[in-house]
Amino acid sequence: MPNLTAHVTPRPRKTLLPLLFAFALCLAASAPIPRADPARFLNDVKALSAPSMEGRGAGTKGLGRAAELIVKRYHELKIAPAGINEYLQPFTVITGARLKSDNAAFLLTGHSKMDLKTNQDFVPFSFSQSGQAAGEMVFAGYGITADEYQYDDYANLDVKDKIVLALRYEPASFASKSGNQGLTHHAQTITKAINARNHGARALVVVNGKLGDGEEDLLTRFGSVNGPQNIGLVCVQVKNNVAQSWLQATGKSLNDLQEQINSAGKPVSFAFPENLHLSLNIDIETTRATVNNVLAYLPGQSDDYVIVGAHYDHLGRGNVDSLAPSQIGQIHPGADDNASGTAGVLELARMLAPQRGQLKRGILFMNFAGEELGLLGSAEWVKEPTLPLGKAIAMINMDMIGRIKDDKVYVGGVGTGSSFKQILEQAQKDQPQDSQFKIETSAGGYSSSDHTSFVAKKIPVLFFFSGLHSDYHKPSDTWEKINAPSAAKLLDLIADVTLQLADAAEPPVFQTVVEAKPAGGGGDRGYGPYFGSIPDFGESTDGLKFADVKPGSPAAKAGLKAGDILIQFGDKPIHNIYDFTDALRRSKVGDVVEVKVLRDGQTVSASVKLEQRK
Ligand SMILES: [Zn+2]
Repeated sequence: MPNLTAHVTPRPRKTLLPLLFAFALCLAASAPIPRADPARFLNDVKALSAPSMEGRGAGTKGLGRAAELIVKRYHELKIAPAGINEYLQPFTVITGARLKSDNAAFLLTGHSKMDLKTNQDFVPFSFSQSGQAAGEMVFAGYGITADEYQYDDYANLDVKDKIVLALRYEPASFASKSGNQGLTHHAQTITKAINARNHGARALVVVNGKLGDGEEDLLTRFGSVNGPQNIGLVCVQVKNNVAQSWLQATGKSLNDLQEQINSAGKPVSFAFPENLHLSLNIDIETTRATVNNVLAYLPGQSDDYVIVGAHYDHLGRGNVDSLAPSQIGQIHPGADDNASGTAGVLELARMLAPQRGQLKRGILFMNFAGEELGLLGSAEWVKEPTLPLGKAIAMINMDMIGRIKDDKVYVGGVGTGSSFKQILEQAQKDQPQDSQFKIETSAGGYSSSDHTSFVAKKIPVLFFFSGLHSDYHKPSDTWEKINAPSAAKLLDLIADVTLQLADAAEPPVFQTVVEAKPAGGGGDRGYGPYFGSIPDFGESTDGLKFADVKPGSPAAKAGLKAGDILIQFGDKPIHNIYDFTDALRRSKVGDVVEVKVLRDGQTVSASVKLEQRK
């Protein structure tokens, strides 16, 4: 654990005057900062989102080319390497899964054997356990246990070590019960898999069931459903006609069973005849790639420094996070997300390079990989910092700064540094009349980008963002839609902020922000009650590691801490974030849940009283 004491020691709050005085002095002492150039900025966005960059997906050559482009720029600007391998800090990420050759399935009925063909009759889900699962079968309706709708396909059903066959989606009655047009989370295959595993099943086999007019009975494309590396049971899909042939022995039809459940709104579950045995052999390989953070350092007069960062990775040709699933396979160029922030870091590097050795503090330029996979690059850096973590006085993150509309900009983390509000106000005053932004600020420093990794280490953060749009995470996030003039003006403002931080008499003091409770999502009980942990996606430990625990949250009140690994939530085992989300969604506001965490190798129990989201 790096030394953080420099940042937790309270310092007296500064007044505005000495700060302005110090700022005036610094401007007098160092060379003036040139203005950001919209054309140069746009050129970099264009280069980073070009087809040769392949959407900068983890494991693509394109991501490597993007890293080379960034390295070349720092080299040209004579900004020193600050990685492990020159400018680079390599680390390994899981990029997905691959079906290997040894996948097989067959049904034994007495002496007859029926073989199934991979990708024709059945396909494993990428989160399936590998290995063998064989045994008797049970039909469990939709495979759903939904206490809130008094519906349980597993009621009075023994599935221990058996193979569960279940329909995809959910009973028609759920729509009116949830008061929601869309499907509830119970319809997700991952929810069904967790439910089957928690009921002791050995495998889950899902089947499409009733199709729309003219709709083809398609198998889910391998790798297209989000999930953990291994959900802890074998999970496959079979074609309707395969399931129907199994049901023949029971004298039932898949269609009739589904109609029966839908019309009555009640489960229909039963065991298949004992002489019917299904055997599944699953062979999945986790694919990994080495990716690189790109790091460069502009020294100042002390070894304190300010971090200016942005992630440069994106979704490649689209992965489970694509918001245009039908266009997976096409390059997702990520011009706004986050070629814009990356080009922003490069432009700031150009603007600030002449300040070498003149500022009170240094500037560490950071370009993260692995952000889209869960803030992995920033998590790697705070875990293995290439400069002393305790000397970082602030972190500025840019993620999507290319779509400024009506001069509106969002700045997060303003409450995490004692001087941030004044610095931001001063920076705005310093800008010319035609460069004024309508800035919307938020105090807290947690959100879904890399600055979160730094807040968790008690480093004050500022996060610049121009807002979401309909091209987000789609192949249509292209460079033509980038508002370069406004982005350049924003970079002038960020350069001003960076300079103030690099030259301030005193660094900002980290402040803990007790955030408003996060909002729940939609009418389907959203993400369940409020718990308050920040997951550490970089850890592949069994259980769910907390990067941090939000101050004032139910988890914090129960004494849970950053670094704890959650392994039990009430009666549910927790192996990964999907288990945790599922368990939380099955809980109610006001429930007192007994949880178990691993802390320094010891099991620690705590009672967490779940609260209402906003
Ligand atoms: Zn992003």
